[in-house]
Amino acid sequence: MQIRDGSDGDTIVVAGGAGFLGSHLCEKLLGHGHGVICVDSFLTGSQKNIAHLRANQGFSLIEHDICDPLEIDEQIDRIYNLACAASPPSYQADPFHTMMTCVKGTGNLLLLAEQHGARFLQASTSEIYGDPEIHPQTEEYRGSVNCTGPRACYDEGKRAAEALCFDLFRLGRVDARVARLFNTYGPRMQPDDGRIVSNLVVQALSGRALTLYGTGHQTRSFCYVSDMIRGLVALMEREPNPALPINLGNPDEFSICELAEMVQREIPTSKDVVYLPLPIDDPRRRQPDIRRAVDLLDWRPEIPLEEGLRHTIDWFKQMIRPADLQLARLEAASAV
Ligand code: UDP
Repeated sequence: MQIRDGSDGDTIVVAGGAGFLGSHLCEKLLGHGHGVICVDSFLTGSQKNIAHLRANQGFSLIEHDICDPLEIDEQIDRIYNLACAASPPSYQADPFHTMMTCVKGTGNLLLLAEQHGARFLQASTSEIYGDPEIHPQTEEYRGSVNCTGPRACYDEGKRAAEALCFDLFRLGRVDARVARLFNTYGPRMQPDDGRIVSNLVVQALSGRALTLYGTGHQTRSFCYVSDMIRGLVALMEREPNPALPINLGNPDEFSICELAEMVQREIPTSKDVVYLPLPIDDPRRRQPDIRRAVDLLDWRPEIPLEEGLRHTIDWFKQMIRPADLQLARLEAASAV
């Protein structure tokens, strides 16, 4: 395995670089003086997310679906794979493509990494634990995924992608690392991709009722985007390769009702709540055990949910045009 050392001025591929997390990562890497090649199909990524990066000399964009093999002439030092639809409605919209993105897409990027002797980081997910039976989730836990359910295209795809990474690592072909990301939120979430934080904030700002699925007693642990990006870079640059998957997330656990109450405190005009059916296989509890990240990466999240939520609300306020908010409020009022 010929691996090049990381240093300022590396050339780094960020697959999914126009997405929520990817665009923050591109920004961080450019800020560290690296060249960034953003690869994105724009299926769920957005040109808006990277508009402010386009003028940077170190930034380039390749519009490409990683399900197809990718060739890059320039010498590459690092590849981050963040390319995949990640919210349940968006990854279930085209489940075949989701599974292919995880398996073929990750395979294609691993082969690219091998060709260049580049280090590789796979953005895996807490979804590989399915609806977990142990709490909090340690990396040793092997998970409880329904392999025939509607979440399987993502969960099983991501599990297979992890297997590919560890196989090529064991074979000495790629210096691959695997991070398991727990629910992450912050500016540049898509307002309409169906995730809880963006849904509740957009609903509250536009005067609509907050939608809670099931009883709202299911839990999640929410990590602010800047903390997550710091964790991803720490894992990529860790010497030597920890050769183990690593949970990255904020261990503070909240029920969905508690999150909704927090949103209502921050946006006091939002009062109504509507309960809708719980999606199939919706995990009941989720909380990362992050001892491994603390020990091996000296990483821990710093931004509490209340603070991160405020930044997120401020961003959505600017993002959604005041005229649209006014219109949505009028529609909400006339629907009552
Ligand atoms: N959820 C909800 N209302 C919404 C969107 C989501 O109650 O408008 C719930 C969903 O059922 C799940 C949790 O919030 O229990 C987190 O959902 P999300 O889609 O953000 O991510 P997941 O962790 O399920 O992948």
